[in-house]
Amino acid sequence: MSLTSMAELLEAARCGGYAVGYFEAWDSYSLDAVLQAAEEENAPVILGFGCLLVDQTWLDHGGIEILGSIGRSAAARSTMPVALLLNECHTLPQALRGIEAGFNAVMLHTDDVAMVAELVEVAHRRGVSVEGEIGTLPNGGADGRVDASRASTTEPEAATAYLAAAGVDCLAVSFGNVHTLESAFAQVDLDRLAAIRACVDVPLVVHGGTGFPGEAVPEAIERGVAKFNVGTALKRAYLQGLREALAGGSPKASPHDLVGSHKIADLQAAAMKDVVAVVRELIRSYGGSGRA
Ligand SMILES: [Zn+2]
Repeated sequence: MSLTSMAELLEAARCGGYAVGYFEAWDSYSLDAVLQAAEEENAPVILGFGCLLVDQTWLDHGGIEILGSIGRSAAARSTMPVALLLNECHTLPQALRGIEAGFNAVMLHTDDVAMVAELVEVAHRRGVSVEGEIGTLPNGGADGRVDASRASTTEPEAATAYLAAAGVDCLAVSFGNVHTLESAFAQVDLDRLAAIRACVDVPLVVHGGTGFPGEAVPEAIERGVAKFNVGTALKRAYLQGLREALAGGSPKASPHDLVGSHKIADLQAAAMKDVVAVVRELIRSYGGSGRA
């Protein structure tokens, strides 16, 4: 199946009362794991890669093109409706290169509304969706602590003004959700989310899906959230699976079987089983199962 527009996936989710997961991959194995989970759940999904925590030099020297090519071929194999997002680009040139590399959705991590509007103009001409953001999320650490020193919650009026100026297709908002939270759950302010919803009409996006409290998911969806971003939970599951695979493997196994073989002894493939399980569980919690 060819790529489906992210804006269309989110509009369908909003009408259907569920949310679509963006499950951030980092290589072809993790991308395959997300796709496998979506197929097993018969669910639409947003595939893609993030720029935020990746070395800029690598991204700027062919990394974006490598990611685009892996993503495009994975999406082409899929029988599910999928979009392909280049998440949280640091610069406008990165986002533009993402479009050239075949991503059909991009996001620019910036407060510069004029720059986002410039991206939207180019992207929409090419049928590419753009995600914007207003408000800054706190960052979590492994110990469950949260650094909110540069965080700000989304003001509903500011969201209205941002949308009018930027013209994005969906909007990431900050109402207590926390980026990269590993071992705790965020305290989210659903009243603020409702106030934002009352002022803007595009699908809303929650970054920090790993630390988002499961019991608040249905209410968040009712208040306009159509997309959850999840990264940390996938890498955590992968590392756990990898440790177990390393501990359980035969010391006599060939390095060729253990690394990159895609055979039964492949350590990375074994570790991805846990990633598939996590993604399937999250798809179900977002109400996305059976929506393909
Ligand atoms: Zn994010």
